[in-house]
Amino acid sequence: MSIMHDTGGLLPRDAAMNRPASAEEQRAIAAAVEKGLDEGGLGMGMGITYTPTASSEEILNLFYLAAKFKRPVFVHAREGGNAIQTLQEVIANAAASGAPLHIVHINSIAMDKTAEALRMIDGTRARGLDVTMEAYPYTAGMTEIASAMYSNWESRPAEYFARFLWPPTGERLTRESFERYRKQGGFVAEFRNTEDMVRLAISHPGVMIATDGILQHPRSSGTYARVLGKYAREEKALTFMDAIRKSSLLPAQRLEAMSPQMRQKGRFESGCRRRHLRLRPQQRHRQGYLRKSQAVFRRLSLRDGRRNLCRPRGQVAGRRCAWPRNSRSMNAIRSIVLPNS
Ligand SMILES: [Zn+2]
Repeated sequence: MSIMHDTGGLLPRDAAMNRPASAEEQRAIAAAVEKGLDEGGLGMGMGITYTPTASSEEILNLFYLAAKFKRPVFVHAREGGNAIQTLQEVIANAAASGAPLHIVHINSIAMDKTAEALRMIDGTRARGLDVTMEAYPYTAGMTEIASAMYSNWESRPAEYFARFLWPPTGERLTRESFERYRKQGGFVAEFRNTEDMVRLAISHPGVMIATDGILQHPRSSGTYARVLGKYAREEKALTFMDAIRKSSLLPAQRLEAMSPQMRQKGRFESGCRRRHLRLRPQQRHRQGYLRKSQAVFRRLSLRDGRRNLCRPRGQVAGRRCAWPRNSRSMNAIRSIVLPNS
């Protein structure tokens, strides 16, 4: 974004979103990415859906660059269009370049084509390509309202806008309020997955569990508790062992080719660097969603004698565990994102 002088923050919102990079800019972008990989970057993050003017050739060239360093491309593939074509694009780039591929939020990309998407990735892996995927356990996603994800908002019918929730006020949007907030900028929640799509992705043995943390979304703090509590314990969509494997071992294995430390994480083996977790899965509780998450977190206590895995406003592995319990935005989104939880 800095090379193209885009004024966006986390995501492009003007130059890098609305125009293709010149040949000179493409060279500068590739050089910056190469420098990062050369310095030990674990992979290349690519948000194709946020840079729709990037050409297929530019994207493929970056896959070749990742392949040169044997690093995965962690890709936010194109969203909102033809999910099959979207996946074909990145799978073909991985096959042609030899770069490992990690597809983020497979259910958000595929939506009602989630079953077909999982079949495509299974088939790709069965034929020897290094392709992995993840999902988070919520029917709502969240992204920047001013991003390229919604470039075609003006052609949408009026009923389309009701799927959006504006966290600061908790309101569902209309065409008018969407336009107003798009000019203003900020993160918006979008309800476009169904429970069936989420359950299908979460229970698939090859799908890792990921948070894609954005602090205004409950997924930042509630993801693992929700998978263990709702999908494993209550709905039995997957076993506890699978839920834990998909949250720990699979992500570590994804990274271990680039990071030798990861060969000692996410598993119990002699000599491994690990934190022991204690879980009493059958203990029931009647609190609402937030307290339910906290109750599960509390049970996942660390045995290092110093701190819990995650306390509200506590720390996770040395990082702040943000859970804005009292914020209006959190209350607003919680009440609508998870009405039955
Ligand atoms: Zn994401």
